[in-house]
Amino acid sequence: MRRLPSYHEAIPVLRSKHVAVQAGFGGEQELDKVFESYAFSMKHGIFHDLSLASSTYFQVNTLFITPWYAVLFEVKNIAGELTVTENPPQLIRVLDSGEVSGFKSPIAQLESNCELFQDWLYSRNISLPVYGAVVLAYARQRIEVFDTNIPVLFPSAVPTFIRKLPTTSPLLDDDTFTDLVSQLSSSHREFIPSPICETYSIRRSDIRTGVICSECKTLGMTWHKRKWECMNCGFRCSEAHIQAIRDWFLLFGGKMTNKDCREFLHLERQQNANRLLRDMDLHTEGANRNRTYTMWLPANHKKRT
Ligand SMILES: [Zn+2]
Repeated sequence: MRRLPSYHEAIPVLRSKHVAVQAGFGGEQELDKVFESYAFSMKHGIFHDLSLASSTYFQVNTLFITPWYAVLFEVKNIAGELTVTENPPQLIRVLDSGEVSGFKSPIAQLESNCELFQDWLYSRNISLPVYGAVVLAYARQRIEVFDTNIPVLFPSAVPTFIRKLPTTSPLLDDDTFTDLVSQLSSSHREFIPSPICETYSIRRSDIRTGVICSECKTLGMTWHKRKWECMNCGFRCSEAHIQAIRDWFLLFGGKMTNKDCREFLHLERQQNANRLLRDMDLHTEGANRNRTYTMWLPANHKKRT
């Protein structure tokens, strides 16, 4: 949004997406707090924002895994009166103002994720019951759900829900479980978002280029004596290009060349662009003039146990 003129046709859609993403993020933090403050007595692993590949890529908000079972949590934080319908699978939200909007059904999303995760386990010769639960981040949310086996919980009810799951004799021995946890860590792939311009049909030429001043938000800082300088407020710093380069990857995706970098940052000299890119710890391909840079790599893991 900060790289589009305020009258751009994509702004309203981007703004509502932004609100939804922020809400989702806040919701996941609520569940994180529960896991952080509660000590589970059984052997377990907790993974957040896990991206795995089965027959297709899929993303899991939170995975709780033990030698007896796995639980996938799908966290939702959408304000208003919520109704989840089975057919068609959707979530309808009615705000106090009467405004009605539709979202993907968290139940359908979770069912599909549970199946994909089950497949992921099968392909590793592991058979483990996979449960799913939708978590409503805040107690003030009201929801009406069709008749389904998938529970809808508030974060505070999650520990009790977990404790009630059957744990008679462990299905996985210690070695297999340890191995599974490390496989989950190494299979995790950084989620590669599709380029914003592609997703929202924004013309590349509509994007305002340049380095944004973190102090006054003005676009077009200039590189001068190894620092970025804002012509509007005089702020100087050496790292303002980092956000701009990330913006480029998020907007357009793919590989960045030295020329792309110079055009986007408004740099004259090839050596300056080279040095800034080199310092950013990006993945490089090719040498010298043909060198390209990419931001997305399979991440090592994002495990928190
Ligand atoms: Zn400034």
